Amino acid sequence: MQFHHHGYVTGDPYVRPAAGYGVDRPAELPDEVDVLVVGSGPAGMIAAAQLAQFPDIRTHVVERRAGRLEMGQADGIQARSVETFQAFGFAERITAEAYRITEMAFWKPDPDRPEHIVRGAVPPDDPGGISEFPHLIVNQARVLDYFAEVAANAPARVRPDYGLELVRLTVADDPGPGAYPVTVTLRHTAGPQEGTEHTVRARYVIGADGAHSAVRQAIGRRAVGDKANHAWGVMDVLAVTDFPDVRTKCAIQSHDGGSILLIPREGGFLARWYVDLGEVPADDAGQVRATTVQEIIARANRIIHPYALDVRDVPWHSVYEVGHRVTDGFDDVPADLAGTRTPRVFLAGDACHTHSAKAGQGMNVSMQDGWNIAWKLAHVLTGRAPESLLATYSAERHVVAQDLIDFDREWSRLMATPPEDLPDPTYLEDFYVKTAEFPCGFMTRYQPSMIVSGTGHQHLATGFPVGKRFKSAPVERVADGNPAHLGHHARADGRWRVYAFADAAAPGEPSALGDWAQWLGTAPDSPLLRHTPADGDPDAVLDVKVVYQQGHGTIEHTAVPEVFRPRVGPFDLVDYEKVYAADPAHDIFELRGIDRGGAVVVVRPDQYVAAVLPLTARDELATFLAGALLPA
Ligand code: FAD
Repeated sequence: MQFHHHGYVTGDPYVRPAAGYGVDRPAELPDEVDVLVVGSGPAGMIAAAQLAQFPDIRTHVVERRAGRLEMGQADGIQARSVETFQAFGFAERITAEAYRITEMAFWKPDPDRPEHIVRGAVPPDDPGGISEFPHLIVNQARVLDYFAEVAANAPARVRPDYGLELVRLTVADDPGPGAYPVTVTLRHTAGPQEGTEHTVRARYVIGADGAHSAVRQAIGRRAVGDKANHAWGVMDVLAVTDFPDVRTKCAIQSHDGGSILLIPREGGFLARWYVDLGEVPADDAGQVRATTVQEIIARANRIIHPYALDVRDVPWHSVYEVGHRVTDGFDDVPADLAGTRTPRVFLAGDACHTHSAKAGQGMNVSMQDGWNIAWKLAHVLTGRAPESLLATYSAERHVVAQDLIDFDREWSRLMATPPEDLPDPTYLEDFYVKTAEFPCGFMTRYQPSMIVSGTGHQHLATGFPVGKRFKSAPVERVADGNPAHLGHHARADGRWRVYAFADAAAPGEPSALGDWAQWLGTAPDSPLLRHTPADGDPDAVLDVKVVYQQGHGTIEHTAVPEVFRPRVGPFDLVDYEKVYAADPAHDIFELRGIDRGGAVVVVRPDQYVAAVLPLTARDELATFLAGALLPA
C-alpha cells in the first residue's frame, strides 16, 4: 500500500483525507445531487464505495431501513467477490472473520438401506485453482459494514441516509446538458420527520432497492421469467447433532426427494440449513410461507435420517419461494431508443434479477453490477469518458444476469430431483465440479464494445482472455525484491491498468519495450499524454506497469524507461512500485501464456481485461483508448 506521496501520513492510511465535496458535505440530503443510490444492500454499497473515491462527485445513498442491517440473508462469498474486496482494501480482514469453504460433501441415500443417507464424493471446492482467493461464508451485514467503512473513509465521505424511502421517480424527456433530469420523491420512514416527503433532483439514479424495486416500477421495467413453484425453509441454527459433516458444506439428498443444503457459518457453532419444502401448488396463495420453524426442523430430521438434529437456538429463519426472473433491461432507455438517448436511471442487483439462494450468487452478482455502473458513472461525471459509456452497463450486465438465471435454474432443479431420477448416481457432484468456474464468479466474459477490444492478438497472452477478469499471478518487485501479486495492486480507484510485458532484452538495451515506452512517454499521439489531465499525476488515469522476464536482481531500476518510474504528488516523488520481474518459481510469462516477444495488456477499472496487443501496435492501443476515454 502506498500513501506518503502527498506528505507524511501518521494515522490510519485507510482513512483518506476528505477532499472536494467531502470537506463540507451537508448533513441533510441536498436538493440536487450527482448520483442518488437507492438502497444500501450489496449493490448499492459497493456503488457508494466506488463513487466515494471521487471527491467532486456528489453521491448520496438513501435507505428505507432505520439503520445498519443487523442480520442479512446472504452469506456465501465467492472468490471473485473476495478479489473485489481486495481492490477495496478489506479482503484480509473479512477473510479472517469468515468461514472458509475448502470442500463440499455430497450425501445421498444408501443403496442398501435407502431410508439412510451416506456420504458420497467430497470434491475440493476449487479443484483447478481458479483463484488465489478463498470461497467464504460471512454474513451480508458484515459485507455492508466494510463497504460502509470504505465509503465513509474515502475522499467524498459518503454515508447512507437511513430512514428514507423512494416513493416516486420521474425522468424528464429532454434534459439539457448539465441538467438534473431525474426527480425523486423520498419519504421519511423513521425519526421525527416520519411521513414527510422530500424531493431531490439527480443527474443519475442507481436503483439498488432489491427485488421489489420501486425504481424498476417507476421506469416501467418488468421482471420477466417463471413464477416460483418450489419452496425452501432456511434457518440459521445453533444445534447439537451426530451428523458428522455439520462443519462441512453439504448437499444432502434423501430417498424421498427431500434435500438440504448445509452451510457452516463464520464464528463456529452456527450453521445454515436450507431445507427443501417441495413443490408449491398453484393455488397455494403464499400459504407455504406460514411454515413454522418447528416444521422445518422436523423435515430436516427426516432428511438426515439416521442422524438427528437437536436445535437449541434459531437466530434467524425464513421461508421463501423465488422465481427465476430477469428485468427486460437494466436502465431507463427503451430498446428502440438504445444508442440515441443517455440512460439516467440504472437497476442493479435484485432489482433486476432474482433467483434461488442455493447457488449463493445473488449478493455476489449484485456487487459486480454495482461496481460496473459506479466506475462508469464516475468516468462520465469526471469528464474522463463520453456518456455513451453508460449504455455498456445494461449490455454487459444483462447477459451476466441471464447466465446466472440459467445456471441457478439447473442447479435448483438438480438439487430438488430425487437421486434415482438423475441420469447417474454422481450426476449432482459432477455438475458441481464441471461448472465450478461459474459459482466462483469467473465465467463472466464481456463481448467487444467501446471498452472491450477484439481478440485478434489473444495468442500473445492466452492466460488473460479479453473480456474476462484479469487473473493475477505472482511477480517480484524490482526496487526491493518483494514478492507481489500483480493484480493486487489494482485498487478500486477508477484507474485503468496498462501492463507492459517486456521482450527478452534487459533494460537499457535496444528493445521493443524500450521503443514502446519511449512512444508512450513522449509521442504526440501517446494515449498517456492524451488522457492524463495536465494537473494530474502521470498515472492519474492510466496506471502503467512493466514486467520483465529477467530475475529482479539483474535489473537496475534506474535503467528502466522513465514512463515506468513516474513522478507523482506535490513533491514529484518517484513511484518505485511500477516495475516488476518474473518470479522464477512461478513465472508469470509461463503461467499466463505471455509471448516472449512481449505484449501489452489493458485492464479496466473493474479488473476485466480490455485488450491484449503487441508492443508494436501503438495505433491500435491509442485508437482503442480514444474510443473509451475522452481527451483530458
Ligand atoms: P438488497 O440486499 O435487497 O438491498 C436492497 C436495499 O434497498 C434494502 O436495504 C432495502 O431496505 C432498500 N430498499 C428497498 N426499497 C427501497 C426504497 N423504496 N427506498 C429506499 N430503500 C429501499 N446471495 C449470495 O450471493 N450468497 C448467498 O449465500 C445468498 N444467500 C441468500 C439466502 C437467502 C435466504 C436469501 C433470501 C437470499 C440470499 N442471497 C444470497 C441473495 C442476496 O441476499 C441478494 O441477492 C442480495 O441481497 C441482493 O442485493 P441488493 O443490494 O440488490 O438488494
